[in-house]
Amino acid sequence: MAGKAIGIDLGTTYSCVAVWRHDRIEIIVNDQGNRTTPSYVAFTDTERLVGDAANYQAARNLINTVFDAKRLIGREFSDSTVQNDMKYWPFKLICDATNKPMIVVNYKGEEKQFSAEEISSMVLSKMKDISEAFLGTTVKDVVVTVPAYFNDSQRQATKDAGIIAGLNVMRIINEPTAAAIAYGLDKGSTSSVAKNVLFFDFGGGTLDVSLVRIKGGIVEVKAIAGDTHLGGQDLDNGMVNHFMNEFKQKYKKDISRSPRAVGRLRTQCERAKRNLSSIVETTIEIEALFEGIDFFTTIRRAKFDEINKGLFRKCVEQVEKCLQDAKMEKSSIHDVVLVGGSSRIPKVQELLQDFFNGKELCKSISPDEAVAYGAAVLAAKLSGNGNDKVQNLVLWDVTPLSLGVRTTGDIMSIIIPRNTTIPTRRIEEYFPVEDNQTNVLIRVYEGERSRATDNNLLGQFNLKGIPAAPRGVAKIKVCFDIDVNGIMTVSAEATGTGLKKNITITNDNGRLSRVEIENMIMDAKKYKQEDEEHKKNVEAKNALEDYAYSMRDTIRCAVRLRRADKNKMEDAFESFIQWLELNKHAKADDFEDKMMELKTIFDPIIAKM
Ligand code: ADP
Ligand code: MG
Repeated sequence: MAGKAIGIDLGTTYSCVAVWRHDRIEIIVNDQGNRTTPSYVAFTDTERLVGDAANYQAARNLINTVFDAKRLIGREFSDSTVQNDMKYWPFKLICDATNKPMIVVNYKGEEKQFSAEEISSMVLSKMKDISEAFLGTTVKDVVVTVPAYFNDSQRQATKDAGIIAGLNVMRIINEPTAAAIAYGLDKGSTSSVAKNVLFFDFGGGTLDVSLVRIKGGIVEVKAIAGDTHLGGQDLDNGMVNHFMNEFKQKYKKDISRSPRAVGRLRTQCERAKRNLSSIVETTIEIEALFEGIDFFTTIRRAKFDEINKGLFRKCVEQVEKCLQDAKMEKSSIHDVVLVGGSSRIPKVQELLQDFFNGKELCKSISPDEAVAYGAAVLAAKLSGNGNDKVQNLVLWDVTPLSLGVRTTGDIMSIIIPRNTTIPTRRIEEYFPVEDNQTNVLIRVYEGERSRATDNNLLGQFNLKGIPAAPRGVAKIKVCFDIDVNGIMTVSAEATGTGLKKNITITNDNGRLSRVEIENMIMDAKKYKQEDEEHKKNVEAKNALEDYAYSMRDTIRCAVRLRRADKNKMEDAFESFIQWLELNKHAKADDFEDKMMELKTIFDPIIAKM
């Protein structure tokens, strides 16, 4: 049977995967029975862990537990957001020769470096495994979602992460677009009446507000706003600070000196925060948190709301900004849809509802799953699956930043304004500024600043050999073309001369080379093989232990056996335990050999019973 196409919401803190099956979208549960999986990868002396397992052990292994890779992807080391984020990460980050951030961990006693693409590929690979186990087929084709504000290089890097994981990334789409697809399918997207829907995606690390227009199956993102540093983690941090102060007051001790204690406190704060979304008071109970002191305390929802008052206010400000950008009044919003785990917080919902003058918020789609759901719908559509409703869906995305060229005086001349729907094609005409100018440098920028060089340079090329003409006579036509994946081609033409040149903006800066990607694909396979081997070893060890203990118990309890046989078993068992202590990390073969050895001792005794 051909593999299925899946949709993956590759989140900063949690990821989610879904598939079209049995005429509907199903959210795929992971090996722990959870519908979302932490975007965590951990390295230990013996193994590599991804997802829940990595998250569980984080407090014990802070420096080798990697998360937030999405914050690094497609960025340079010197990027100010990277420099700022770094201060809060327990894992080590270094800069390689090409100004790419590399995560440094200790794996099996050796220092290893990983790029953000590789860490993300490990999370994607985990989502692939989860899907394959669920579906019983191989999975290759995927749609992966990214935030709407991701620039070209962040999108390309996400695609590379998919390639390293051995996936075929059919399409990268914007998270709000995916959520809108989920909403549209739920609410009947084929309605011919246009609806303006505001998606409020409050996740683990970010807030993304998007205004989307849905009409007759067409999903159009009109405007986006948000804060790349406002999410559940910030709320957790607020709580951690609150409790650190409480601890200081109660015990006159500062736990901030112990990263492990802070890590354990943070884990408990996150749990408490989730509880406070459904109950008004909860407890924090951590034994021997710091210098042997147990920390037992309570927190009420009202206190939590007060601690985070400022952050919640910022959320509403972003909603306001999004409406302003779209030049829309609150009253023209038909629906407000909650997306992201943090949108479950009652105070956030209350503030939003107040902002929209008491309007009921839409909660019919699960906030943690809406994005993966929409991605899976698109995956089904692109692979020719799904029903008519899925097949009839049309999508429009927008450009997150304005795109333009640099003109005289370092002016940013915008050709495609931000929030323009794609695919799109726009042409502008320019006049060379000097008499008899025969060559023009076309420099392409993205950004909102009026000085071109304050924006981000995407690429440049020279149009040479323009026939000499007096100033104001020669004309240069510049054309910007953006395809469905958001990839841009820029061309320039000296009007009436046939002289033309173009480039595809590939954002090569900080991108992985083909060779690097190939090496990473090989590494990924190697790590996977090691994971499987480790699993086999652990299983063989468990089987051996189970066998030895059950034989011991059976023989000990047997009434008809001679003392000598029982002693023989006890001796064999004792020496086995000693052997195991010394060979904890042995290979599956060794455990199997040991099992055979024990059998030759135990079987004859059992036979006498
Ligand atoms: P991402 O930003 O990675 O897409 P999610 O949308 O899954 O992540 O949101 C994860 C965040 O949501 C985490 O910070 C988590 O603590 C928070 N969260 C999950 N459930 C709840 C809840 N019931 N109440 C409050 N916060 C929650
Ligand atoms: Mg998300």
